[in-house]
Amino acid sequence: MSPELKMYQPSTQSDACTYMWACAICDENETCQKDKEGHSRWLVAKRMERIDYKILVMSNKGGVGKSTVSTNLAVSLALKGYEVGICDMDIHGPNIPKMVGAEGQRLKISTGGGIIPHQAYNMKIASMSFLLQNSDDPIIWRDAYKFEFINQLLGGVEWQDLNFLIVDLPPGTGNESVTTIDLIGEVTGCVIVSTPQEVALLDARKSVTFARDSELPIIGIVENMSGLDCPHCHEHIEVFRMGGGEASAHDMQVPFLGRIPLDPEVVRQSDYGEPYALFHSDLPTADAYHNIANQVDDFCKKKGSLVQIATKSPFKKK
Ligand code: ADP
Repeated sequence: MSPELKMYQPSTQSDACTYMWACAICDENETCQKDKEGHSRWLVAKRMERIDYKILVMSNKGGVGKSTVSTNLAVSLALKGYEVGICDMDIHGPNIPKMVGAEGQRLKISTGGGIIPHQAYNMKIASMSFLLQNSDDPIIWRDAYKFEFINQLLGGVEWQDLNFLIVDLPPGTGNESVTTIDLIGEVTGCVIVSTPQEVALLDARKSVTFARDSELPIIGIVENMSGLDCPHCHEHIEVFRMGGGEASAHDMQVPFLGRIPLDPEVVRQSDYGEPYALFHSDLPTADAYHNIANQVDDFCKKKGSLVQIATKSPFKKK
């Protein structure tokens, strides 16, 4: 059986561990037989303790640019010289690999038994997409499988020492988000992404309430797709209106992290697998991403002393 299949193969024996390849690195092999859930949690905790900051990127609504913000936030932090990982927790719409040019890649298993994350642009990446035989395949899983998958992405993957793990949550406040938050334990903060129109803002407000109810520190709201400067006539068009994200942030008394314009180049670069903030690092839209990354960085620095691991990032700004 291939390792990928083993990953989400349900155990045939009720008392056997389904994370078989992880047993090689597990000090608790014996106790795991008695307490599988406790063992999985131990493995996640072991991985997470080597990561300085765990940042969730969330939105209650799909299609508002959450994965794009996650990718460009991660790239901007990597540009600052940090070691960064992206955990694509969007089981049903795993788009991060496409956005970093890693579509069709498969995760490999290390000799130690863990899952080796894919490397792209000096970042470590793990996603459901790496497990699909065919990118057109839909994922139709019951909650128990999803739970195991989330466990694997957090605990099975060898994230090793990271400054930041950017977790791209699926839209909504459902089981996947709750399980992820529960397993990570100490989430450093969350970034809420919204577009400026009323229907999206209603959802963003739900995300704020969800974060508060889950006792997640809120880093702030990002207003994405905020105004388009027409590349042809240069007229400024408020396609999804403007300013709603900032007004909501003010109303809900959470920080506003800034606006990212609706920029056709962002779509093009994402589709090419070349993160915009890296390939157009000096353009205004990239500045918006860098500005958000700086605020995330500042937020984290205030939370604790961040040890910068990577000082030799190949694309570090001079
Ligand atoms: P989500 O993760 O919220 O479902 P995505 O990040 O997948 O959303 O983005 C949805 C689509 O919108 C993608 O095609 C992406 O390229 C595009 N997009 C995201 N942000 C912007 C932006 N600022 N300008 C233009 N297109 C964007």
